[in-house]
Amino acid sequence: MSQIELRDVTKAFGPHEVIKGVDLTIADGELTVFVGPSGCGKSTLLRMIAGLEDVSSGSVLIDGKDVTGAAPAERALAMVFQSYALYPHMDVRANIGFSLKTAGMASAEITKRVDEVAAILKLTDYLDRKPKALSGGQRQRVAIGRAIVRDPTAFLFDEPLSNLDAALRVEMRIEIAKLHKKLEATTIYVTHDQVEAMTLADKIVVLRDGLIEQIGPPRELYDRPANLFVAQFLGSPK
Ligand code: ADP
Ligand code: MG
Repeated sequence: MSQIELRDVTKAFGPHEVIKGVDLTIADGELTVFVGPSGCGKSTLLRMIAGLEDVSSGSVLIDGKDVTGAAPAERALAMVFQSYALYPHMDVRANIGFSLKTAGMASAEITKRVDEVAAILKLTDYLDRKPKALSGGQRQRVAIGRAIVRDPTAFLFDEPLSNLDAALRVEMRIEIAKLHKKLEATTIYVTHDQVEAMTLADKIVVLRDGLIEQIGPPRELYDRPANLFVAQFLGSPK
């Protein structure tokens, strides 16, 4: 189980406060989407949850345990970025299994675990290929495979589909939704794409200029936006 909680979190870069006091609880197993215009602080918030960025004040809790200041490895969260960041010289099997190898898992066990993950992501036929011999969608699946292979407590996606063309984005979005259903893992998904947010989310967090404007299920936000900004951003009828 993994519940993620932010308590009055702020972040300043020099004199510039970009997160201005965020309180948020993400329930175990829920798929929460952070949405908002470019520069509103989505990535910064996600990076603070992952431990890749320090908070300026406030605290981050995972399953009730205060992890503020803890290293990323201690948080057992898996992050998937928009850049695939695959190792170009390694085949798909080695890319997916890499973190298990560095963690010291026996190679027979690694093979078994990578096979399981490849089956989930429909990569079984591509395990001996190098990244350059894969399509964009396949590469993105390998990146997701690298994240799920260690059985993390939660997934953090930062605009994972923004490098893909429109048709592939729709396809991958459906796959991510299916994956979430299957794994039932707590997931935070960052996007500036309203359609992606509306179709994927159990709950949407609308951010604007470092603050939360509204939190709720997609339908509720669409039907009852708290203000004009939310209405315009989600395309609700005015
Ligand atoms: P989003 O992901 O919503 O587009 P970001 O979290 O990347 O927004 O950025 C929020 C604000 O913080 C922006 O004004 C950005 O320029 C600023 N920012 C992000 N990272 C840094 C950094 N390392 N140093 C200085 N400013 C930063
Ligand atoms: Mg960003």
